[in-house]
Amino acid sequence: MASPTRNDCLALDSRDQLADFRNQFQLADDLIYLDGNSLGVLPRATKARLLDAVEIEWGQDLIKSWNKHGWMHLPTRVGDKIAGLIGAKAGQVVAADSTSINVYKVVSSALKMQKGRIKIISDQGNFPTDLYMVQGITNQIGRDKCQLNLVSPDDVISAIDDDTALVMLTQVDFRTGRIYDMDAITKAAHAKGALVCWDLCHSAGAIPVLLDECNVDFAVGCGYKYLNGGPGAPAFVYVAKRHLAKAFQPLSGWHGHASPFDFSTEFTPANTIESFLCGTPSVLAMIALEVSLDIWAEADMTAVRKKSMALCDLFIELVEDRCANHGFELISPRDANLRGSQVSFSHSDGFPITQALIAANVVGDFRAPNVLRFGFTPLYTSYVDVWDAVDRLVNIMATKSYDAPEFNVRGAVT
Ligand SMILES: *Cc1c(COP(=O)(O)O)cnc(C)c1O
Repeated sequence: MASPTRNDCLALDSRDQLADFRNQFQLADDLIYLDGNSLGVLPRATKARLLDAVEIEWGQDLIKSWNKHGWMHLPTRVGDKIAGLIGAKAGQVVAADSTSINVYKVVSSALKMQKGRIKIISDQGNFPTDLYMVQGITNQIGRDKCQLNLVSPDDVISAIDDDTALVMLTQVDFRTGRIYDMDAITKAAHAKGALVCWDLCHSAGAIPVLLDECNVDFAVGCGYKYLNGGPGAPAFVYVAKRHLAKAFQPLSGWHGHASPFDFSTEFTPANTIESFLCGTPSVLAMIALEVSLDIWAEADMTAVRKKSMALCDLFIELVEDRCANHGFELISPRDANLRGSQVSFSHSDGFPITQALIAANVVGDFRAPNVLRFGFTPLYTSYVDVWDAVDRLVNIMATKSYDAPEFNVRGAVT
């Protein structure tokens, strides 16, 4: 069967119940942005809200704003809005710090809760910062107290043993988009007395997540990818309610204190999720993230997932049909049920092809050594965007325009 035409894609867009969301985002008409998995697009409302926060809350009300404008409660208020997207009841998520810092808090807590167990199991393909944070903890407390055990994805369950303190995985692989079975792995970990921490950086806002239902212990994730919170937006951390009274994280700053404004010399942790806070929140960044979460609150995650699968399937079909024999190899799962909201192809000229695409206003990204990665964000990406993106790729491949020297210069960020 022939692959869909541009008109077919326009017809799909006209029936798309999520199509109107695009107007809520600032996106140039000709730009096809397939990198919302790295940095989400700016919601139009964010600008006005930030201006207001700067002029009135900071500019006029100054210190009064902590109470008057609820700054003090931003980490829990924003956290509860994220909770709604990841299948968590309120009171178990705070927005705070970066994902890396939250990994540190969770791994440290888990080791403390799991006296005598020293192993942290993760996979070789995990996002490096998660692994680096565990290596830092090993350096800090010693190899007799913390050991990182890296296995291949298929071996995770068999690697869990009586010495495993924590299974720490990224649910959606950042290179390939492969999805782990959260329910099965969490059950297998619990059966051996291990805890789990799921990194949701490529899940939150990308696929439906059921943390409470899967009995997950801990989760972390970031605010600037699919959540559209802005560059360096606050990250989040989830701690299951049943652990809140006994999970103590070591970054015991005053915002994690049971009553910070007592200014006592003794640290007494809050017995709520606020014990996972450390210092003063980044207020403006929190406010920006909250604006985009309010847009997310209007979106039906089932519809988002359905469209995401359709956009990814369409992209794969068009690339494989129209760029056949150009050396692209799909490295994402072909089955949409096993894939997050991204599609990755390997190609020996992946880097210059990515650069040529960017020059043609199709923004994806490149991950060493040879991966072209495209994120699909149903709130602001249309079916015809997918068609046009592949059409520009067809042209680049046919003319070999990616061979030009300017497409072979690497910047600090790929
Ligand atoms: C993007 C990403 C991070 C980023 O961590 P930061 O500390 O927020 O920079 C961490 N883990 C995964 C899996 C990611 O995809």
